[in-house]
Amino acid sequence: MKVIDPSTGEHLTNVLDDSAELIAEKVAAARAAQPSWAARPVGERIEIMRAFRGWIVKKTDELAALLTSETGKPITQSRNELAGLLPRIDFFLDEAVATLADEVVLDDADAAGGGRLREVITHEPLGVIANISAWNYPYFVGSNVFVPALLAGNAVLYKPSEHATLTGLAIASMLNDAGVPVDVFSLVAGDGVVGAELLAHPLDGVFFTGSYATGRRIAESVASHLGRVQLELGGKDPVYVCDDVDVAAAAEGLADGAFYNNGQSCCSVERIYVHHSIHDAFVDRFVANVEGFVMGDPTDDATYLGPLTRADQADVLEAQVADAVAKGATVRTGGARVHGGPAGTAWFAPTVLTGVTADMAVMRDESFGPIIGIQSVADDDEAVRLMNDSEYGLTAGVYAVDQARATAVLRHMRAGSAYWNCCDRVSPRLPWSGRGHSGMGSTLSTYGILTFAHPKAWHLRTPS
Ligand code: NAD
Repeated sequence: MKVIDPSTGEHLTNVLDDSAELIAEKVAAARAAQPSWAARPVGERIEIMRAFRGWIVKKTDELAALLTSETGKPITQSRNELAGLLPRIDFFLDEAVATLADEVVLDDADAAGGGRLREVITHEPLGVIANISAWNYPYFVGSNVFVPALLAGNAVLYKPSEHATLTGLAIASMLNDAGVPVDVFSLVAGDGVVGAELLAHPLDGVFFTGSYATGRRIAESVASHLGRVQLELGGKDPVYVCDDVDVAAAAEGLADGAFYNNGQSCCSVERIYVHHSIHDAFVDRFVANVEGFVMGDPTDDATYLGPLTRADQADVLEAQVADAVAKGATVRTGGARVHGGPAGTAWFAPTVLTGVTADMAVMRDESFGPIIGIQSVADDDEAVRLMNDSEYGLTAGVYAVDQARATAVLRHMRAGSAYWNCCDRVSPRLPWSGRGHSGMGSTLSTYGILTFAHPKAWHLRTPS
């Protein structure tokens, strides 16, 4: 597998794909190693993960540079991702013991039928799980799975995205250096074909982050194993801007929410609905913000927009613009590739479309790039109807001064996360989940720890 720098087209290195035989060996080794990992006291596993955290702190600059080199993510945003990883790890380190502790739910000294009856819940690891990861936030989406999975006593076969393999290798080496045995956390290198080979083994859980198309294929292919399947998929995240907002502040916040990481976030703002009475003023401020974004060398601290990580995504963006324009939309800024980049790279001008309608691909299909449609709406009811007119259901937001009005809209949203006056935000303390084509299951929060364990129900009767 060739690793290419998406900003220069430079061939950085080669990584050897795992063969089917090697994958089978890794699965067998993980099976053999998992019971002794699970048998260690949870406190020991916590200390090992704390040592992993220490490596992240120590090597931040080097890791950020590596991430930027293989994904084209602007260096400041790579550093932000690493900084944001620390509170996520801390949450899991703080919560693992209490969340996985045995729970006595009944203790009846004088039970019907005689004697003392206790009912207890314990939490047992799933066993050996696959963590198939995406490239856009490899530290976030990987650690949401492997940190709690390892803390809960599982062995993890981690397949990073083929667009973030060097980062995956760095993660594996830091975990192993921290004390996670190589057979308990082992990396499987390669693309989707390698991922499919891994999932041909009957594993105890499959935790996937990626697109709806791949997630659905995976869910179908592993259905017969009846292992736990969790899917964190794409989004078409809508935001409604009410007429009572500070237009400039809303436009600034939403431009960042739509274009940070080049719009390559599952929770990037992908559709904006604006109350008609402030629509024109909002669009003017929004476009001014977007035109102020600096595109350029991702290793430069001044850069806000780099290249697309996957050059082929430019075709999707071009097609969405062409479809929108053909159906009557206006390109307010951007709208095309930026020419002049090195061969094999793709740079797309940040694009704002207005006069969009619900039948346009840009308002229906995940863009996963620097492009946004802004639509004028008559009132809150129309906003609710249009926001919910999607097969995706990851996040939804409302910008408004009036909290009651915002929450009334958000209560109607078929989405895993609801934002009031914020967007493109993930918290370790809150469950991260999608509905519909955005996936199933939750990571983060204590739900995201318990998902890596089977509850066992104990019925314990002490004879009288
Ligand atoms: P992708 O679906 O192309 O690939 C994801 C992973 O699946 C990669 O590691 C890939 O090698 C692997 N894969 C591909 N085919 C496979 C198969 N048949 N069997 C097993 N593995 C296979 O997605 P991507 O381009 O890496 O990521 C972008 C997508 O991820 C976007 O849709 C984005 O919204 C989504 N995403 C979602 C979240 C979330 O938390 N909901 C977070 C980040 C990204």
